[in-house]
Amino acid sequence: MTGVPGLSWIDSANQPTSDFPLANLPYGVFSRAGEPARCGVAIGDMIVDLAALGAAGVLALSAPSIFDQPALNAFMALGRENWDEVRARLTSLLSADGDPSLRDNALLRARVLHPAGTARMHLPFRVAGYTDFYSGRHHAENVGTMFRGSDNALPPNWLSLPIGYNGRASTVVVSGTGIRRPWGQVKPSGVDLPTFMPSRRLDIELELGAVVGTPSEMGVPVSVSEAAEMIFGYVLLNDWSARDIQAWEYQPLGPFQAKAFATSISPWVVTTAALAPFRVSTPPRERALLPYLQEPGPMLYDISLEILMRPAGSARSTVISRTNYREMYYSAPQQLAHHASGGCRMDTGDLLGSGTISGPTKDSRGSLLELSWGGAEPLLLETGESRSFIEDGDTLTLTGWAQGDGFRIGFGACTGTIFPALDR
Ligand code: CA
Repeated sequence: MTGVPGLSWIDSANQPTSDFPLANLPYGVFSRAGEPARCGVAIGDMIVDLAALGAAGVLALSAPSIFDQPALNAFMALGRENWDEVRARLTSLLSADGDPSLRDNALLRARVLHPAGTARMHLPFRVAGYTDFYSGRHHAENVGTMFRGSDNALPPNWLSLPIGYNGRASTVVVSGTGIRRPWGQVKPSGVDLPTFMPSRRLDIELELGAVVGTPSEMGVPVSVSEAAEMIFGYVLLNDWSARDIQAWEYQPLGPFQAKAFATSISPWVVTTAALAPFRVSTPPRERALLPYLQEPGPMLYDISLEILMRPAGSARSTVISRTNYREMYYSAPQQLAHHASGGCRMDTGDLLGSGTISGPTKDSRGSLLELSWGGAEPLLLETGESRSFIEDGDTLTLTGWAQGDGFRIGFGACTGTIFPALDR
């Protein structure tokens, strides 16, 4: 366990259950009624307006207006040295025993600090590209067993490389955005030809998204160590999936329409700096990795994760899964190094989905497909209802946090409600 961080003069940040203590300081984009969206940092139940702080000259940045825009991309592109400088400055300004420039200036406080409840959160960065991986071994084995049988559960390449596919950046949305049930080609078993219809096997995938800060050059690979330096932070990611559409379309090029309709992410990007004390190693290799994929040190994180499900009209959510990011077989730096290994340029704002994070036990699976074992074992919710897949009006929420001793580095929530399919 990692020790208690310093206290903040913002009391709500010092509560042991706060997602956003002084040691976290995640970045996001927010707006308030009638005002433009700009960058902020979460602390306790408040948001620090970085645009206002920059304009007041308190941040000591060469380009203080970098936060006065509705995306973190420009700041993320500056690189780790600048990230570290701003983090150190914010830590001092918000610490109970740090620089009093903000703490002791009531006028500045009024301009810079806003209750989080009065703000609307936006997508935190312009998503340059979205790539989704398949790096959770328990998930790959569960899905492989259901789709191909237990003898062929893991594809032959799985232990050698982090399998991925290029997803859609255009439909990555911030938590709270409603998700429309998609239509698609579905071919039920025992029937020769497909039907075009609304998905009946709509699912979630609990993932962590790594956010690329600094870009790489086309034609130039990056090492795993370099990849780790390029990653700005992490978000919760729900890779909504239509299993019936996926089952018919996925061979030979992988998922397409089954996953292109929506991907939700949490609004706060938790930085690699905040997560650093919680690093853990990937599991032992069953097959030795090629040198370009080998890690120089621990690059996963110990992050507790939960999935909550709430049916339409109910106030009550049921925790349907508890798992941990440390279950992954490949880390985000390994995925990023593999992604660039053939010369693919990686951009500021690229988003890498970890792959579904399932644990080894039944109650730690990261998708409904696995939790209900393809619909054969429906889940019972605390409201008395049962579910194999998502029904219209259901709200799904992901939460996550790294647990320290008396504090947590939290991600907030990534939530979405399913709207009925369009009539067509
Ligand atoms: Ca996925």
